[in-house]
Amino acid sequence: MRRLWTLVPALVLSLGTSGAFAQPRLAPPLRIVIAGDSTASDYEAARWPRRGWGQELPGFVDASVEVRNRAQSGRSARSFIEQGWIYDVARDLRAGDLLLIQFGHNDEKADDPARYDEPQQAFPLWLRQYVELARAVGATPVLLTPVARRHFVAGRAIDRHGPYAQAVRALARREQVALIDLGASSLRWLSGLGEDASRAFYLHVPEQNLRDDTHFHQRGAAAVACLVVQGLREQGLLDAARLRRDVDCGIPDDLDTVVPGASRIARDGDYRRSQPAPHGGGGSTTAYALFEDVPDLGIVLRRRVLPPGAGIGLHRHVHDEIYYVLSGRGLYVLDGISYTVGPGDALLTRAGSSHALQQTGDAELVLLINYAKPR
Ligand code: MN
Repeated sequence: MRRLWTLVPALVLSLGTSGAFAQPRLAPPLRIVIAGDSTASDYEAARWPRRGWGQELPGFVDASVEVRNRAQSGRSARSFIEQGWIYDVARDLRAGDLLLIQFGHNDEKADDPARYDEPQQAFPLWLRQYVELARAVGATPVLLTPVARRHFVAGRAIDRHGPYAQAVRALARREQVALIDLGASSLRWLSGLGEDASRAFYLHVPEQNLRDDTHFHQRGAAAVACLVVQGLREQGLLDAARLRRDVDCGIPDDLDTVVPGASRIARDGDYRRSQPAPHGGGGSTTAYALFEDVPDLGIVLRRRVLPPGAGIGLHRHVHDEIYYVLSGRGLYVLDGISYTVGPGDALLTRAGSSHALQQTGDAELVLLINYAKPR
C-alpha cells in the first residue's frame, strides 16, 4: 500500500505517449506522405468509381500507419513545387516517416510549358528536391517510376513512360534512394490481365462516357496500391506487422510458366453420368466428376445427386474427405452416430473414420465431394 504512489508517474508517462497505453500492441506511429499526380490523388465520392492509388493505400495498413495523400491532379514534379503543394508535404513529414514520390505523367506534356520537364536534366533535378526535403527532416524518400498507362499494341502491353521512368531509376541509383519500379510492376500486372480484361481496371465507364487509359477505376486503384505496398515490403520499408491485407499481387518477373489451355472453365453437365450408388448404397445416383479427364490433377471434386431412396453405403476411409451439402436432406452416419444434415452442412471425414449417407425426404440430396487424389 505505501508504495502505490510510485506507480503514478509511470502511469501518467504512458498515457502521455500518444495512445501507447490504450493500444499497447500497436507498432510506433508511421506516416506515409504521398507527393504525386492524378493517378495517386484523392477524389470526392461524386466522381466514383474514379479513385487514385494513394486513396486506396490506407486499406492495406493498420492503425499504426497514417497515410497523408498530398498528390494533386494535373501536377508535374515542377508545378507541384512551383504552386506550393510541396509545403503541405514539408509540414507533414517527420523523422522516420516515408515520402512516396511519383511524377512523370504531366512532366511528359511537351506542349504545356507550365508542366513540361525534359527527362534528362530538368525532371530528375525537380525530383531531387523531394529527396532532399525528406532527408533534411530524417524521413525516408522513396522514388516511384510512373504507373503504366493502359496501352496495348498487337496484344502486348507497352511502356509509355520510357525516358521518364529511366530518369527515376537513374536518380535513385545516383542518390542511393529507395526505388519502387511501379512502372515495371504495373506493366506486368497489365500484361497479366490482358488487353480486354484490363479495361475494367481503368476508367472505362460507358454510363459516364469515360474511356480513360490513364486514370483508375477503384478496382485498378486498389490493385496499384497493392503493388506499391508490395514494393515497400520488398524494400524493407514497411513491417509485415503493420499490414492488414496480403500484398501477393501482380505478376512476378520470373513467372512465365503459363501453358495455354491447361487452366480452363467447364460446365458440370459435360461430366454428367449415371452411376450406381457407391459402396453398396441403395438406388442410383448422378455423378459429375469434374475435370476427371485432366492428367496429374491432384484434386477430386465431384457433385453427386442422390434422388429419393438413394444412399452412399458404409465405408471406411484411408484418406481425408469433405462432403458439402448443396441442397436436400440426409441421414448421415459417422463412426456409429447418426446426424440429420441439410444445405450448408460440411462433413469432414478423416482417414480411419467410417461413414454412410442416406437421402431423406422428397427432394434429391445434392453433395459436393472433395478429396485429394491418392497418388
Ligand atoms: Mn467417403
